[in-house]
Amino acid sequence: MQQARICVVGSINMDLVVSTPALPVPGQTVLGGPFRTFAGGKGANQAVAAARAGGHVAMVGCVGADSYGMILRKELVDNCVDVSNVHIREGVATGVALIAVDPTGQNTIVVAPGANATLTLADIEQAASIISTSAVLVLQLEVPLPIVVRAAELARKSGTRVVFNPAPAMPLDNTLLKLADVLVPNETEAATLTGLQPDGWTVAEHMAHALRSRGPQSVVITLGERGAVFTDGENSIRQAPFAVRAVDATAAGDAFIGGLAVALAENCSLSEAVRWGAAAGALAATQHGAQPSLPDRALIEKLLSCSVRICYP
Ligand code: ADP
Repeated sequence: MQQARICVVGSINMDLVVSTPALPVPGQTVLGGPFRTFAGGKGANQAVAAARAGGHVAMVGCVGADSYGMILRKELVDNCVDVSNVHIREGVATGVALIAVDPTGQNTIVVAPGANATLTLADIEQAASIISTSAVLVLQLEVPLPIVVRAAELARKSGTRVVFNPAPAMPLDNTLLKLADVLVPNETEAATLTGLQPDGWTVAEHMAHALRSRGPQSVVITLGERGAVFTDGENSIRQAPFAVRAVDATAAGDAFIGGLAVALAENCSLSEAVRWGAAAGALAATQHGAQPSLPDRALIEKLLSCSVRICYP
């Protein structure tokens, strides 16, 4: 079978993570514990998630001409992601996220977008044929907004389905929302977009309908360990979570997007695609870290096949 083709336009970051006994307050220096680096960036995470879930994935993005950039590009190649549209920018640092984590799991994060901010409209035009021949385009908000909008426009013009993850959370007008076939916020992002306070299933359903009325064909709100809710019309449907032994939900959302995108690219219905996303997200929560925790297709299919389908009415 020809693998379903997916294009991801988005960020590529190195996560620089230090554990610390306490998060520093302004002006304070604290002595931290071990330091580790992890491949990250929502774009790259979602590209790897889709590739591991069985998609044929091309990434459009930018890294700097530095060691992090080379490592991150190789990480994508090692995960079978096509990097012919991952540009290496001279004189710009690769994007980084500076992350401090305390013993309770609380963190502070500063992202320096670096090369991610240099993605241009010309880069998107150069990738136009990849976008238009893909079954699904996956977008987030860690590269400049006009770039995201242009990529979505090109996709819509050619019938490529747009899966839009509006992360990190920020208010948006309807321009981009109208270009989305499937809008996939988590609860926090949905709250930012709707102004509603998260408070369980009923509010999540209200959020999904409120967001759908702003333009996207369908809306899927991920609700962490509670699963997800989605709508593509009058009704909203609850997707129960897959029961797993969760240890770290980092990148569960990225795994969800990857699984959902692959299923949609393979012409599954929205409810099947949400199930794929939920299985991938649950599996990601069973492992520590971001990219290392993203599950492969065999694991996702195993979880899908051994779990009873539970959709709340
Ligand atoms: P994000 O990482 O963007 O905040 P979520 O935390 O909502 O995303 O997780 C995405 C999806 O992963 C959820 O909709 C759910 O299906 C699945 N998931 C996350 N955490 C768990 C968990 N502890 N148990 C089962 N499934 C989970």
